[in-house]
Amino acid sequence: MKDGEIPSKLTDFKVNSEGVAAQKGLTGKYYCGRKILSCSCCNGHCGPNNGCNCLSCQKLDQEERELREEEERHPATASAMIIDSWTWGQQPTTEHLREALQALILEQQELACQAAGTTLSAMRLKQRLAVLSRYFIAQARHRKHGEIQSRKLKERSIEQESETNKLKAK
Ligand SMILES: [Zn+2]
Ligand SMILES: [Zn+2]
Repeated sequence: MKDGEIPSKLTDFKVNSEGVAAQKGLTGKYYCGRKILSCSCCNGHCGPNNGCNCLSCQKLDQEERELREEEERHPATASAMIIDSWTWGQQPTTEHLREALQALILEQQELACQAAGTTLSAMRLKQRLAVLSRYFIAQARHRKHGEIQSRKLKERSIEQESETNKLKAK
């Protein structure tokens, strides 16, 4: 058994989009170990510990990056951190309590807004609006098409008229 053959964490093990098991190498990138690379900078293997990785392993890297960014965007709630700090710390003062209450209210507001935006009725309304907007776009397009058609007809009749005029002049 070689060094780095056993991944240190379970999360370092993933299956890439081609269904091949990949694990995190020394570089922090995912590698499946297959000999499928065509770049000139390495030996053609995806990993197994460093160097380039294949496209489907790069997708795993991308996924992980997005996941980390998502976690950074939604850190643990402020109120939870405040309440946790009371467990072993000093008794909270009135000021601290007020702060915690404020944080809780803000969080509840945010949660209520999110819930209101994702209820069944809200979703149904969104769907109906989408259908309506599609309908209106189609109607506008249809009308424009009709206008072009009638303009063409008018032009053609004008042409015909001028031609008959010319013939008459002869
Ligand atoms: Zn790979
Ligand atoms: Zn390479």
